[in-house]
Amino acid sequence: MSDARNGVARTVLKFGGTSVASPAALLRVAEILKATKGERIVVVSATAGTTDALVAAARASEAGDAQAALQALAGLADAHKNLAADALGFSSAEVLTEIADLTERTHSLLESVAILRECTERTLDAIMSYGERISAPIVAAVLGHNGTKAEALSAEGLLITDDAFGHASPILDATRERVSRELIPRMRYGVVPVVTGFIGSTAAGVTTTLGRGGSDYSAAVVAAATGAHELRIYTDVSGVMSADPRVVEAAKPLASISYAEAAELSYFGAKVIHPRTVLPAVEAGIPVRILNTFAPSEAGTTITADTPRDGSVVKATTSLGGLGLITVQGAGMSGVPGFAARVFDTTAAERVSVMMISQSSSENSICLVVPDDATDRLKAALERMFNAELRRHDVERISVERPVAIVAAVGEGMRGTPGVAARVFGALGKAGVNVVAIAQGSSELNISLVVAERDREKAVRLIHQEFNT
Ligand code: ADP
Ligand code: ASP
Ligand code: MG
Repeated sequence: MSDARNGVARTVLKFGGTSVASPAALLRVAEILKATKGERIVVVSATAGTTDALVAAARASEAGDAQAALQALAGLADAHKNLAADALGFSSAEVLTEIADLTERTHSLLESVAILRECTERTLDAIMSYGERISAPIVAAVLGHNGTKAEALSAEGLLITDDAFGHASPILDATRERVSRELIPRMRYGVVPVVTGFIGSTAAGVTTTLGRGGSDYSAAVVAAATGAHELRIYTDVSGVMSADPRVVEAAKPLASISYAEAAELSYFGAKVIHPRTVLPAVEAGIPVRILNTFAPSEAGTTITADTPRDGSVVKATTSLGGLGLITVQGAGMSGVPGFAARVFDTTAAERVSVMMISQSSSENSICLVVPDDATDRLKAALERMFNAELRRHDVERISVERPVAIVAAVGEGMRGTPGVAARVFGALGKAGVNVVAIAQGSSELNISLVVAERDREKAVRLIHQEFNT
């Protein structure tokens, strides 16, 4: 760890998509930087909607519609030019050159995809990197114009990852070395590095991304690699709330949550933090705060190693949609060793990530929840795997239910509190919401259940109402 900080606080501040998408937001960012003492590193997302637009453009090119893709890219370039000019009050030649260079490169990539009619994960990462690479120079220029010396840096060559394109994992030692070499001297000279979130590169320099929503993760890695004292994740809500505020109007910000709770919440769909974010910060013992760019004086949520028990049982309810449920069922399955292993060999061979598993106590059935778009492929693979058992009727059927959602109730206070599950199911049952499958994590920190997609929001509201009002 680069420790020679002479007692100077070092803070990593990450700003999400909406926090960098308008001139008003950018001015907020500049004010927050001015109010933060000590050494600062900024990590930025692409402006809200840009990554989605880039993915859509890549798909259009892949389908042969280069014109639509290039038009979309030109639209993004114009929007960013306007954003920079509006936020700065003039057009900055430096920013315009940067935008032009990046746009030209992405233009060529989209054209190549259209010619090849193929967009690999690796190419998609290069295309998506446009979003963060174009927002960083704008943020740096706005900071500079508002009295904070800043320099935009691409995380390519800084945040070193493996080559799992689309969901790369950072390599901390290599990253620490690059980051100390590049970021720390700049801070010594009073320059705030503005680093692109979400993207990185392999040791050989090939662009990678950390998975959608991955800028939080980048920020945690940068915080760990620089030995920061604090990681602040600025977003458009006042912290982690007791439910997605878009679903539950009465949702309230939580003052503090434990790392374990944060991990469960993000895993089960609380978009406010990326699932893998917490780990590098936990391991480095760095406190994480989630704050609102638009109301920075609000307390937000502190994520810490352990949270003092506050008497709550279920702290937050979250949900994840777009899933399919596969049930492998048959009387001939019970007591047969190795059966579950064969199910999971199949999911591994098909490279399908399983979101949730539940097995009935009679061992008569195993349920798997997987991304909806993998359901048919996995069902077919399971049918091949259990072909003989299906013919003998040891396995009666492999059925699919879709679309479904996982709804999860999360809270450390559930541990050892009897009757939580009964309250959850009671609340849903009274309102006539059918629970398709249930799983309780062995940590006893969450109860997750599967409902039909159409019941998803209703289920979240009912559980929230039961425990949080
Ligand atoms: P950013 O671009 O700043 O990373 P995101 O859109 O990724 O922001 O995440 C913030 C959004 O997460 C909020 O606007 C909110 O709608 C959503 N969200 C989902 N669940 C929760 C929750 N439990 N608490 C707070 N926000 C949540
Ligand atoms: N821009 C990326 C995305 O939209 C990463 C992020 O915003 O965290 O997924
Ligand atoms: Mg996010």
